[in-house]
Amino acid sequence: MHKNFKNIDKVVFGRGSFDSMDSILAEKRNENNKFFLFIVDNYFKGKALEKRIPLKPEDVLMFIDVDPYEPTTEQIDNIRDSILKNKGLPAGIVGIGGGSIMDIAKAASLMFTNEGSSTKYQGLNLIKKPGIYHMGVPTISGTGAECSMTAVLTGPEKKLGLKCDWTVFNQVILDPDLIASVPRDWWFYTGMDTFIHCVESECGKLNNAFSHAYAEQAMKLCRDVYVNEGSGQNATNDEKLMIASLMGGLSLTYSEVGVCHALSYGLSKILGTRHCYANCIAFNHLEDFYPDGVTEFKQMIAKHKITLPQNLSKDWNDKQITDMAHVAYNLPHMWNHAIGSDWKEKITIDLIKGLYKRL
Ligand code: NAD
Ligand code: ZN
Repeated sequence: MHKNFKNIDKVVFGRGSFDSMDSILAEKRNENNKFFLFIVDNYFKGKALEKRIPLKPEDVLMFIDVDPYEPTTEQIDNIRDSILKNKGLPAGIVGIGGGSIMDIAKAASLMFTNEGSSTKYQGLNLIKKPGIYHMGVPTISGTGAECSMTAVLTGPEKKLGLKCDWTVFNQVILDPDLIASVPRDWWFYTGMDTFIHCVESECGKLNNAFSHAYAEQAMKLCRDVYVNEGSGQNATNDEKLMIASLMGGLSLTYSEVGVCHALSYGLSKILGTRHCYANCIAFNHLEDFYPDGVTEFKQMIAKHKITLPQNLSKDWNDKQITDMAHVAYNLPHMWNHAIGSDWKEKITIDLIKGLYKRL
């Protein structure tokens, strides 16, 4: 079966492109109850960007603190319920922030038109109806959430995305100026998420000419940002990182992620470790799966003087490690890609527990 994926409907890229939002939204404002819901990372509250949001009197502006927890199903249900109760159905929703805010915007867009709790829809193609118009504006680059067909939510039972064609944004604004203020450690961890997306997309059974083309270019951009002469956090590299994030995301969309992401999901679900940071912690110890990628990763760690914690597992009990291993094991699409269709013969819960014990 060939994958048939939906891409973002429209993308605008460039410095200052944030200010095209007003005219882009103008033609959508007559839909439903004729107001927009803006969901914005709390970091921007009181900052200059807040004043540039094209807010009309009828609109709703919601600041959300994404620290320390990743988006939850309960949070999405509450946003949907309170907006529907007080204002009715929005014309559309705009998410301005990192992967967390973009996932909230994507998930809320779907949940405005699909009844019941979002926990019912965690999985592939479980959503019944298209959501409302939704726009994503990344302010930190790396996860590829701006282009992916999933909105990752942590629910009472699982950390799993609402995944379908309708999840993909109708519009994305890529303005590299917005990522200039990202703290250095997050700039590193989120950028490494892109790098790891590319390594995992390339090193697996589903790699193909389409996913390879994106991964190759995204890796090249990552090397400019993190390795080559002129590397570091600066305006030119912010442009490159923003595009690397998009292309890394498109690469894995047409291929798949692998062992590192499986382990990372376990860390996030059981210990609440943030996605990009969890990936860095896991990837650092996966040289037998991804030798070249891990070598390069360690060079980047050294170059940017990033310190990753060691011997974390000594503080974890056996139940936590077992629970994490089960979360990771239950991501068959990742193992299938990374190891092959006979992965169950090679990958066991005990083996995965051993991988966690390396961390
Ligand atoms: P994030 O949205 O969690 O934000 C990380 C931190 O950076 C927060 O403290 C935030 O306030 C801050 N921040 C954001 N923009 C900033 C800016 N311009 N200046 C200063 N600080 C800023 O970061 P993320 O790593 O992009 O997203 C992680 C989330 O994305 C997780 O919830 C994960 O599950 C999800 N994710 C989704 C996908 C997908 O395909 N949908 C893929 C990977 C990860
Ligand atoms: Zn990732």
